[in-house]
Amino acid sequence: MTNQYIGRFAPSPTGPLHAGSLVSALGSWADAKRHGGKWLIRIEDIDPQRETPEAATRIITSLEAHHLFADENITYQHDNSHHYDKALNELRAQNKLYACTCTRKSLRALHQSNYPGTCRNLRHTEEDRSLRVLIDAADISFKDITHGDVTENVSQSVGDFIVRRRGPFYAYQLAVVVDDARQNITHVVRGSDLLDNTARQIVLQRLLHYPQPEYLHLPLAIGNDGRKLSKQTGAQPLDDNDAVSNLRAAWRLLGQIDPPEYISSCKQFLAHCKDSWDRELIPKVSA
Ligand code: GLU
Ligand code: ZN
Repeated sequence: MTNQYIGRFAPSPTGPLHAGSLVSALGSWADAKRHGGKWLIRIEDIDPQRETPEAATRIITSLEAHHLFADENITYQHDNSHHYDKALNELRAQNKLYACTCTRKSLRALHQSNYPGTCRNLRHTEEDRSLRVLIDAADISFKDITHGDVTENVSQSVGDFIVRRRGPFYAYQLAVVVDDARQNITHVVRGSDLLDNTARQIVLQRLLHYPQPEYLHLPLAIGNDGRKLSKQTGAQPLDDNDAVSNLRAAWRLLGQIDPPEYISSCKQFLAHCKDSWDRELIPKVSA
């Protein structure tokens, strides 16, 4: 099987599914289905400090209530440590990894948006330290399906970034890149809050010789206060008993054509989504 579309929805279990996360779930599902692809669910549970044990189960139950089912077994990042370690070994073998002892406070005092490379040549021991990846100064360019050409100079915007935090905890940037490659993800469809993480992920893909998936960043649901809907801004959990209305709201936010009024089940609704999803209609700005 070559070039089959494989997409995914990759929630962090920091809280129940809300209107914002449903937009990413539905958008990634519809884009995969419209292209005859598979849609996977990956629970990104690598941050025990932010996660609650029941959240993953609640997210999955809620997705099912909206008739959104994965085409393969759901995977959990907490099972994948050895894969992340392997990638770290690979970076270490290329001399692209170093330990950093800087504190948040010491970095804040520099008033710089990027990490200035303070620990680059200090050869700290790794134990109980965060690990950064050594990056070069090149611009990274990619084409986002909705946003078009994007160029970012990661060394200026963020600098050598963290791939494993003290703890140790694997960083999102590392885990997402390793798993997207392992699962042969061809299309990453997710909220546009992650658009500015993409260049960092491409840096890692290149260092690790992974293929680069296509990217499509979706509009974000904005709350009444003008901020992105998220658990942090107090987004309410979705009412699973009102699943069709939730899907309708998410579909509208994706700029898509309303399904006929008579549709009353999630299953019918999703059949409409699969047939009528149109990338051209996706708004570039948040609604
Ligand atoms: N786990 C990330 C989040 O919930 C999303 C990862 C991704 O789609 O790349 O924000
Ligand atoms: Zn440092």
